[in-house]
Amino acid sequence: MVFNLPQTANPKHETTLTTLIIGAGLSGLTAAHQLQQNGHSVTLLDKGRGVGGRLATRRLGRDAEASRADHGAQYFSARSPELQALVHNWQAQGLVQEWHIEQSDPASFQHPRYAVTGGMSQLAKQLAQGLDVRTGERATYLTQTDTGWQVRCDSGLTLSADALLLTLPAPQAIALLNESGVTLAEADQQALTSIHYEPCLAVMLRLNQPSQLPKPGGLKLPDGPVSWLADNQQKGVSEQPTVTIHASHAYSQQHLDDADLTALIPELLAAVSDYVPADRIVESQMHRWRYSNATKRHPDPMLAATLPGSGTLLFGGDGFGNGNVEGAFLSGLAMARHVTGQRAA
Ligand SMILES: Cc1cc2nc3c(=O)[nH]c(=O)nc-3n(C[C@H](O)[C@H](O)[C@H](O)COP(=O)(O)OP(=O)(O)OC[C@H]3O[C@@H](n4cnc5c(N)ncnc54)[C@H](O)[C@@H]3O)c2cc1C
Repeated sequence: MVFNLPQTANPKHETTLTTLIIGAGLSGLTAAHQLQQNGHSVTLLDKGRGVGGRLATRRLGRDAEASRADHGAQYFSARSPELQALVHNWQAQGLVQEWHIEQSDPASFQHPRYAVTGGMSQLAKQLAQGLDVRTGERATYLTQTDTGWQVRCDSGLTLSADALLLTLPAPQAIALLNESGVTLAEADQQALTSIHYEPCLAVMLRLNQPSQLPKPGGLKLPDGPVSWLADNQQKGVSEQPTVTIHASHAYSQQHLDDADLTALIPELLAAVSDYVPADRIVESQMHRWRYSNATKRHPDPMLAATLPGSGTLLFGGDGFGNGNVEGAFLSGLAMARHVTGQRAA
């Protein structure tokens, strides 16, 4: 693993600074990795069963290893030198490959996009190696202490640290702060409430024959209820044919709170029947992303809360800076820089 930040703390001569990170998506994992490399003691908490958050890959069918579908992020960019260095390593390991989705519109090509062998969640698993990650732990209550922060989870697990990093989507962070009775300075509160996410309903299909999506297996649809269609077999995610469908933001917003999401599947399949003939579908599953892409973001890659007393509270994730996968990565680096910079000062 290559991170380009200099080490700013010397763990041999200083007391280890502890950091708690809520959220083991890409931003949290990146921050944790970087902090640990700099001699910090880091623990990540995530409510999910596994790591990755929106870097999500689902196994379908009985032979679950053979049929997989990315149902969150589909591909990512690497325009920053920091992520380019990592991608270079991942490519050498065969974990990541360029996905030429711009082939359908060469005029719009500006920079390469990458897909992950075996699915996007493999990236998160790779980054999580060697980190103290507690999955299945939903943080429900935050308390500012004399020296930092205490976090309580719904399992009863309670942990304390000098610094607390919140990497969940801003609306969820605000809800957690409100439930905990933590009041932010007005400017910080406004910064968080101005961040906006759009929802996305995702359908995953297992097929008994390959789809009819043209190479390289990714397609944006301009109109109608479906906005994106991907062939996970062509993309290198799945051995067996599977397809991911993303409903448009407007359609997803309209149906977000429907009690039975599966009732929407026939309408969504009808919109993609040219590419996915109905008689090839042997299984379908749905997933509701209440927060998919951050369409209104804070301009900086992270936010340090202004609070009375000691203890650091940082906000990060894709709601800050560039958004998307690369933005989440850069936000994680920025949070780590902030903590290690404080330490060095
Ligand atoms: C449908 C969809 C399509 C997308 N397509 C693309 C794409 O093609 N390219 C691209 O670059 N980006 C895409 N994105 C966006 C990309 O996935 C995100 O920008 C990025 O993964 C966000 O990472 P993050 O670490 O900021 O947040 P997340 O991955 O959301 O991580 C936050 C973590 O916090 C955890 N959490 C939340 N609340 C709590 C709690 N109370 N206690 C403990 N844990 C908690 C969650 O379980 C989650 O794991 C897409 C997203 C979606 C949903």
